[in-house]
Amino acid sequence: MSEKSDVRIAIVGAGLGGCAVASLLQQQGYTPEIYEQTPQITPLGAGIHLSPNVTRVLDRIGILDALVAVGSRPREWLSRDWDTGKVTLDYTLGDVAEEKFGSPYLTVHRGDLAVELVGAVDQQRLHLDKKLVGMEKGAGGTTLSFQDGTTAEADIVIGADGVHSKVREILAGPEEPIYTGHVAHRAMIPMDRYNGHIFDDDTKWWHPESHIVVYYIKADRSYIYFVTGVPEPDWPREEWVYDGDPNELRGHFDGYHDEVQLLLSQVDKVLNWAILERKPFELWSEGPIVMLGDACHPMKPHMGQGGAMAIEDAAMLARCIGDQPTDFDAAFRLYIANRQERTAKVQHYSHNNDWLQYQETSDPDWVFAYDVFTEPLVQPGD
Ligand SMILES: Cc1cc2nc3c(=O)[nH]c(=O)nc-3n(C[C@H](O)[C@H](O)[C@H](O)COP(=O)(O)OP(=O)(O)OC[C@H]3O[C@@H](n4cnc5c(N)ncnc54)[C@H](O)[C@@H]3O)c2cc1C
Repeated sequence: MSEKSDVRIAIVGAGLGGCAVASLLQQQGYTPEIYEQTPQITPLGAGIHLSPNVTRVLDRIGILDALVAVGSRPREWLSRDWDTGKVTLDYTLGDVAEEKFGSPYLTVHRGDLAVELVGAVDQQRLHLDKKLVGMEKGAGGTTLSFQDGTTAEADIVIGADGVHSKVREILAGPEEPIYTGHVAHRAMIPMDRYNGHIFDDDTKWWHPESHIVVYYIKADRSYIYFVTGVPEPDWPREEWVYDGDPNELRGHFDGYHDEVQLLLSQVDKVLNWAILERKPFELWSEGPIVMLGDACHPMKPHMGQGGAMAIEDAAMLARCIGDQPTDFDAAFRLYIANRQERTAKVQHYSHNNDWLQYQETSDPDWVFAYDVFTEPLVQPGD
């Protein structure tokens, strides 16, 4: 087996990391097959921050221009005290950040991102309604079994199946993610409900026990979006996401600044998400199976970097596989050596939730300036 197109690569999960690694491997001449559990890719009504460390990967995939055209390009990130509104950090984005980091900072609708990422993969090799339920290694490769009774064979398997990863469960045994005791409320609201009022581009309002992050998700600023972090000691449901109650949401923000009250006054639909995480974990690969993204390192969303880490992982994995279609073991060790430290550090900062709160203590360069394509590689064991 020497031709790249002869290598049978199976990717489990067509989320952010799965689509990113598929398209980058395709660019290198590989022909990965992607297996996604959902029968239809339905865009989630939510927003996502895309910082320069990830927009440079989206550029390599070939979808950045399309996202710049539809997404919002914030002029700055503000941190403000929850009640007085005092600005504790004003970090310039826009042209200044783009020049400094060589790639733009965007805030976009997740549906727009999903459409572009899914569109970048070979549609003939994207298999929907294929929920992985088992895997078995044999002499001729790995057999993947799906809920519908079908199977597929692969030489290598990339587990990109998110926080409830089946691939991780098969490798490491069953272990539920940790509920952090916090809920994230998410909603997007049409701006025509605010009678011409303009919100700042991208603001995090900080209370000692809760927060709310507010930003535009469309280039024409037609929608404003927010995501919160609010204590909720016990998760009340079996499912990890459910329709919330706008009045209950508003109750959590009593006493917050008038700007937040105005924003929340127009909410008529809200989704409540359990915030889950896991501790840093080392077994990212075993034999021909390797994982990336939330399957390895789910984190609190408080830095807006979980998806970014999945996409960086995808790019580093594709870089390490590179031109060596026969020695995946070496490629996986190289990939792990170059990703575990960074993702553990981001998990740590996300857990602490103090990223970009104060001007004096904030230096985001180590996150934003990272270039996964040129970062000098650390060798395993170094
Ligand atoms: C409230 C909130 C706000 C966030 N905001 C941001 C942000 O601003 N910026 C940011 O970078 N990140 C953010 N994140 C984090 C980000 O959403 C995740 O880190 C990211 O989606 C992880 O990507 P992934 O590819 O690992 O997994 P996912 O994107 O979750 O994709 C996993 C895919 O695998 C599929 N799958 C699962 N199990 C199976 C199976 N058995 N068989 C086949 N397919 C399967 C799933 O259907 C899914 O399509 C946020 C998260 C939350 C909860």
